[in-house]
Amino acid sequence: MQDMYEWLHYFNAYGWFSLIIFLEYLFPNRRYELLNQGWLSDLFHTYEPMARAMLINACVVGINGLLPMHGPLKDLLLEAPAWQIFLMALFVSETSFYFVHRLLHWNPILWEFHRVHHSSTRYYSLMTSRFHLLDVVLFIAPYVVIMGWFGAGGIGLLWFGFFQGFVDRYGHSNINGPRFTGRILMTPHFHAWHHSTEPEAADKNFSRNLVILDYLFGTAYYPKDKKAQNFGDQNYSNNYIVQQLLPFYYATRKMKHYVSSIFSR
Ligand SMILES: [Zn+2]
Ligand SMILES: [Zn+2]
Repeated sequence: MQDMYEWLHYFNAYGWFSLIIFLEYLFPNRRYELLNQGWLSDLFHTYEPMARAMLINACVVGINGLLPMHGPLKDLLLEAPAWQIFLMALFVSETSFYFVHRLLHWNPILWEFHRVHHSSTRYYSLMTSRFHLLDVVLFIAPYVVIMGWFGAGGIGLLWFGFFQGFVDRYGHSNINGPRFTGRILMTPHFHAWHHSTEPEAADKNFSRNLVILDYLFGTAYYPKDKKAQNFGDQNYSNNYIVQQLLPFYYATRKMKHYVSSIFSR
């Protein structure tokens, strides 16, 4: 069993990363030069787990400290088999991600932090992890807190991470995969519309792994025989440090503008 844990851990860290890049090379969706501006920064985003882990951990510990010791559904999955933990992880991840994601697009202040993920002008797997740290915390903390409340752990969660690791990297890749799969999974054809700058796709396709919530809440956009072509923001920095600092500047500027507009009424 220990071997399985280690194998899943290492494959999640390096396996999907290299396999998806290889498939991008074999079955490209759009013609790109080998490396674009910002690839080094994107690589750093992929392998800087320390800062993310520390921040998420601090937030989760803080939230857990505010929660009561007992309550409804507490330790629901403590003794549950791996498949039940997998299914619950899928349900919690899908719902929390979808609604947090909509909030990040709807709120102009939070958007400045999520905007970093949307800044790449090239749609390719290396930008999967291009996120502001605060954005990552807002996405992941609800999932970790809820699954912790349920007492979930073990191999079921690792298999879920394995599945999610694939969908994340594949969904952001430049692979020309089968189109019909975009009606079920977050695939490159489906999620590319979420990153596109084409007006008809604005605020569409928020899903994480399965696309069911987008169809359920009317936010799916998946036209036949058409591919998203334009992405990101040419003027946004490709530098990791600037990407972490700039959202605070833009968010503060928006807040000042909002406050001064209230007082000038
Ligand atoms: Zn988004
Ligand atoms: Zn994305």
